[in-house]
Amino acid sequence: MAFLFESFEEWRTYCSKTNKTLDQVVVEYETEQKGRSEQEIIAGLANAWKVMREAVHSGLEEDMTSRSGMINNGAKKVFRYPTPVLSKEFQNLISRALAAKEVNSCMGRVVAAPTAGASGIMPGVLYTLQEIHHISDKRILEAMMVAAGIAIIIEQKASIAGAVGGCQAETGTAAAMGAGAIVFCLGGTIDQVFNAVAITIQCMLGLVCDPVAGLVEIPCVVRNASAAAIANSSAQIALADVSSVIPVDEVIEAMGEIGASMETRYKETALGGLAATPTAQKIAKRVLIRDIDVLPDQEN
Ligand code: SF4
Repeated sequence: MAFLFESFEEWRTYCSKTNKTLDQVVVEYETEQKGRSEQEIIAGLANAWKVMREAVHSGLEEDMTSRSGMINNGAKKVFRYPTPVLSKEFQNLISRALAAKEVNSCMGRVVAAPTAGASGIMPGVLYTLQEIHHISDKRILEAMMVAAGIAIIIEQKASIAGAVGGCQAETGTAAAMGAGAIVFCLGGTIDQVFNAVAITIQCMLGLVCDPVAGLVEIPCVVRNASAAAIANSSAQIALADVSSVIPVDEVIEAMGEIGASMETRYKETALGGLAATPTAQKIAKRVLIRDIDVLPDQEN
């Protein structure tokens, strides 16, 4: 059934023909592709969900200073700031996405969903969704299955790697996974889930990958927060049955086309965009000098 995960349309058609839900079809696909039982797949997901929650807690409770110094406990500052811009829930969402991603930038344990660079988005989105709507862990795991299906199709039709498709492929895909998961958990239809994906990607198209000093820190960490916000805005729009107008498969094809035509300097090479600014160049030099200084010590 590998063909099912080449397009959203095929996924939808299979669901209506077999009367199965989105997550059930992904479980079926995974058991077939990986040769693992349903119980093993669910156990793996449960572990991933645990690691995601732990990353949120670590990012908010432990010291998060990266070796470069560019990441310095930003999530905690946001979490504790006394004035929420919109609501405490929104502040929590942003803090948690930052927190889990800071753990990755500080070499802690995260779940690549779909990549380590985008590892704060799903934890921030799901943690906050569960807290606000009292979603059961079982439903969260089913939503993670749906999110996995979304990522599989985007990988087939476009890319989930910054080095191939720019940051739209990494944080964009994670935001689409999050948006789809939210709509699924809140009882949305298949059309609404797919609309949430399409609307999210429409908002993320063209985003380049330009990490300062080649480190997955700046702008990656703050992009995890903004992608989590976009996931929520897209879910809100899609749940109200507002159409993406351009069908989801065509949106993903546009993403693939943009990624393919993006210049190499915007694909994780740290040669363009923010990475090419004078300040970023100075930081890159400092990080490189420090690495060279550290090398002889490591050999002794
Ligand atoms: S800027 Fe590049 S390295 Fe950073 S999150 Fe985006 S795709 Fe990943």
